[in-house]
Amino acid sequence: MLPILLWIAAAGAAASESPVQISGELTGADHQSYKAVPFDVPDGVERITVTLSYDKADRTVVDLGVWDPQRFRGWSGGTRDRFTIGLSDASPGYLPGTLPSGRWQVMLGVPNIRVASRSRYAVTVTFDKVGDPAASAAIADPPLSAAPGWYRGDLHMHDANSDGTCASRSGKRVPCPLFRSVEAAAAAGLDFVAVTDHNTTAHFGGLRELQPYFDKILLIPGIEVTTFKGHANVLGATGFVDFRIGTPAVADLAGLQESLAESGAILSLNHPAAPTGEDCMGCGWVWPDTQYDKVAAIEVVNGPIAEGRFGGLEFWYARLNEGHRLTGIAGSDNHDPDAPGGKPPIGRPATVVHAAALSRDGILDGIRGGNVFIDVEGTRERLLEVDASGGTERVSMGGRLAAKGVVDVRAHVAAPSGSTAFLVADGETVASRQIASADETIVFRTPAAARRWLSVNVRGANGQLLLIGNPIYIDAVRQSTPKAAKRS
Ligand SMILES: [Zn+2]
Ligand SMILES: [Zn+2]
Repeated sequence: MLPILLWIAAAGAAASESPVQISGELTGADHQSYKAVPFDVPDGVERITVTLSYDKADRTVVDLGVWDPQRFRGWSGGTRDRFTIGLSDASPGYLPGTLPSGRWQVMLGVPNIRVASRSRYAVTVTFDKVGDPAASAAIADPPLSAAPGWYRGDLHMHDANSDGTCASRSGKRVPCPLFRSVEAAAAAGLDFVAVTDHNTTAHFGGLRELQPYFDKILLIPGIEVTTFKGHANVLGATGFVDFRIGTPAVADLAGLQESLAESGAILSLNHPAAPTGEDCMGCGWVWPDTQYDKVAAIEVVNGPIAEGRFGGLEFWYARLNEGHRLTGIAGSDNHDPDAPGGKPPIGRPATVVHAAALSRDGILDGIRGGNVFIDVEGTRERLLEVDASGGTERVSMGGRLAAKGVVDVRAHVAAPSGSTAFLVADGETVASRQIASADETIVFRTPAAARRWLSVNVRGANGQLLLIGNPIYIDAVRQSTPKAAKRS
């Protein structure tokens, strides 16, 4: 019995609702021929992901490739059973770029099927529409680990696709190839990195090529949107972000922020308190109309700079005190993976994220959730797990706690003995406790009243910041009277 779907494949394009599933059968008559499997692509698609499965008995081999309505878009022969093509990146062997609507054709080549053999095949085509990038992620970008836990990474670096340089084989300073950054990140023992070249998406394809080889470190496409009034990382970018604010392309910052809000990416303000002027053009964040409800994170530590006039800590605390909810993160801003002359190596500082899985969405959701700390020196083992309780409820960093009376803030700290943990309330240090052992849990008790947020930081014996915790947001609840308590 030949199913109806085979008739669809032979007679016309399958429907364009994602995913499109087309199945059929190859026979000995298809030996050394090409079979076109058409499908229609609707408007507004930013990624197409195709998988092929077929019956490989009797040494049947099926090659895979694709044509768009006008041109060839790639071929992977018999080596792979899936590919993805986006606006800025594609699987190796495939060509990224505009995805025209209309009739596309998956091309099945059949180098071998025996005369008497039959092979069922199934082609699945998944479309990601603009603003809905999740559909193909599970197919094209499966998690590196499905285990929840703490994952360490670096969220800011540059390579040859913008202004990253390194010494060539003969010692000349040259644009530094992307793989050198990824190699350095893997050698540093990181679980994830975001590569964030200035204003371009040219590195996205390279990341897609490198990811299967670097299978222990998650590679997140990022863009450092570099404007005249500030730099911001778009983490998990799915395509180009027009940075030309003040032109017909992007009227204002709000337009840029709104275009990102639908994309699933995170906007993080980089080195927001850096100087701005002829010494560092556009480096500090001075946009007057920033919508902080559409900003997910602040780069609190950039390279070696956390505190002081140009550090991000005071800028972040000021925004938290205004009532905004922003996750503090960090990035090396590395421009040379060899880190010559003591420049920040990849992985220093590190951002440590509690994530549901080591996947792009897992890390981005983890950052949004705020159960995150910064390891300023980018070690492999320091830990700052903080939670708070104000009655029956207990929440982790990034959480919101309804608290009556007092709050117990519990910090599990792994840091050098002789370090000191500090309780911070609305940006002010309100208590401290020396850490006697390298792995210790301490509890601070503090009044909930008039507190907006509480966090814990750890400083080394020399006073330098080692670990920076994210806030637990406090909703102080008025003490109920005994009578009211009885009634409830
Ligand atoms: Zn920058
Ligand atoms: Zn940068």
